[in-house]
Amino acid sequence: MSLALPYTIRGLCEIKSGDLSGSVRGRFPVFVCLHAIHPVRATPARYVYDFLEGPLKQAFPHTSMVDARLSPSTAPLTSGMDAVCLFVNDDASAETVEILAANGTRLIAMRCAGYDRVDVDACRRHGVTVARVPEYSPHAVAEHALALLMAVNRHLPAAHSRTREGNFTLSGLVGVDLYGKTAGVVGTGKIGRCLIRILRGLGMRVLAHDVAESPEARSLGADYVERDYLIANSDVISLHAPLMDSTRHMIDRRAVELMRPGCLIVNVARGGLIDTAALLQGLKSGQVGGAALDTYEKEDKIFFKDFSSSSMSKRMEAWDDEFKLLKSFPNVLITPHSAFLTREALANIANSTVANVLSFAEGKPFPENALVVGPGKN
Ligand code: NAD
Repeated sequence: MSLALPYTIRGLCEIKSGDLSGSVRGRFPVFVCLHAIHPVRATPARYVYDFLEGPLKQAFPHTSMVDARLSPSTAPLTSGMDAVCLFVNDDASAETVEILAANGTRLIAMRCAGYDRVDVDACRRHGVTVARVPEYSPHAVAEHALALLMAVNRHLPAAHSRTREGNFTLSGLVGVDLYGKTAGVVGTGKIGRCLIRILRGLGMRVLAHDVAESPEARSLGADYVERDYLIANSDVISLHAPLMDSTRHMIDRRAVELMRPGCLIVNVARGGLIDTAALLQGLKSGQVGGAALDTYEKEDKIFFKDFSSSSMSKRMEAWDDEFKLLKSFPNVLITPHSAFLTREALANIANSTVANVLSFAEGKPFPENALVVGPGKN
């Protein structure tokens, strides 16, 4: 599927390549990790080609788009590449970083905001700079959270497949009015604030929790409370905090027990924020009324791969038991880490990624909030 749009590369066209033969850019090889599907049927991430390849190659002619997910076993492929461009599920663990550094890689350019799979200490030790795209479209992610919430609350997947099959009955499709209900938003950064605006528009009361309170969130009508209070008093809980040691499994058994019976959980942030075993327990007991997930704890072995024509045994082998169970609940809705996937977001990702690699190659300051590890950020 081609998503190429004229405006996609408008901003990038401003980055004139000119005659690159003798320039830094002309000598700066960039390695772009796509998502290899081996041993399952290969499905190159077409949208990455469509949005990123042209702009990157225009700025850096020696760009290689490689259908491989980065890991210690694929890291040797990057030999001689100055920059490696990664996405959410690439493995930039200490072992991988060591191989990259030995190969001469000096920059990891994440084409996403989160960098929880990059061992930043290892990058510091090996002098590898890490940059990210701090913001590409918080609206895209917040709107997806809303879509998931609506769909899980009103059982839209079941209603849709039922009507396609000619069954127009209503049993099992009862939802609740969101108007007048309480939503708990954990993490009131860029995405959390976009969602607060949307939820307030629906007429919901919004409780918020963050380690750093935002005046904007408050002015949108959110009431800041302690995390336990939010968990215990919300009809819907939506997670928008980054994955760190302090946030891992913030939804655990204790949190599930604290929730209002029938609470809906939305997670478009990172899978590791939820202890899947605890969520499954809550779904079984009915304490959790439904879960809408764009991320999953162990998604790196599953997401961005196509198992649709794989044998049952291959699927069973690749999917862990908790994922199989999660998938089997009618009140669990899972999307494959696609919350960000709008044309606007992809264009912004391409623009920012090229800008980051250019900053590094030309020794210029990185755009605001893009540098994670590197000069002046160690
Ligand atoms: P952001 O940095 O603007 O906001 C994150 C907020 O979380 C900040 O306000 C921060 O103070 C807060 N926070 C940190 N620790 C916390 C804690 N212990 N408890 C509560 N809040 C805490 O980031 P953002 O752009 O809003 O993105 C949020 C997360 O969404 C990202 O970290 C990323 O993991 C995820 N994300 C997912 C997708 C997707 O496609 N599914 C796309 C983009 C981002």
